[in-house]
Amino acid sequence: MVVVARRYSSCMDAKDLGDELSKILVTEEQLRTRLAEMARQIEADYPADRPPLLVGVLKGAVMVMADLARELRFHAEMDWMAVSSYGASTKSSGVVRILKDLDTALEGRDVLIVEDIIDSGLTLAWLKENLESRGAKSVRICTMLRKPDAAKVEVDVAYVGFDIPTDFVVGYGLDYAERYRNLRDVGVLAPHVYAGED
Ligand code: 5GP
Repeated sequence: MVVVARRYSSCMDAKDLGDELSKILVTEEQLRTRLAEMARQIEADYPADRPPLLVGVLKGAVMVMADLARELRFHAEMDWMAVSSYGASTKSSGVVRILKDLDTALEGRDVLIVEDIIDSGLTLAWLKENLESRGAKSVRICTMLRKPDAAKVEVDVAYVGFDIPTDFVVGYGLDYAERYRNLRDVGVLAPHVYAGED
């Protein structure tokens, strides 16, 4: 019998990452529990016959969008945008460029932006204004993570999963150089991983 050694575990756990994370900040379990609470609140806030269009911001919001949409007890129409904030890869500059636009017209629609994280708030402040300018009836924001101490602009956020410190985090959709997105928890990236970067 040939036994093939498995190089990878069946899902990506923090323990597989050795010293790449300095700590786990929010566990998969905590994310799931909080997301269910947020979903109940969203259901309560929108009329049952007029659910919002969920707008996810690629790529980081993929996990939160997938989990939130399945948690919601209404038909969750989804659309996606991809934007890039110019600047060093661990910082946002506030200069935003649309890489992929929505397929849906927003005229008269209630829109709920679904985000992974708000750091300076510059990207979301820009995005909210951009979607409002397309004639949306309302634009609210839902984010899984927020760094209050990093805020550079006031952004009105209707639904927040967790307020976290200013450390650079990865997991649950959040990457560093396209790695760690499929980590099931949210962890703080160890500084030695991005040492040397500007
Ligand atoms: P903001 O414009 O609020 O400063 O940053 C928005 C974007 O920067 C987020 O959507 C995310 O892509 C990225 N970002 C901000 N903080 C972090 C972080 O701690 N980890 C990761 N992976 N991305 C972050």
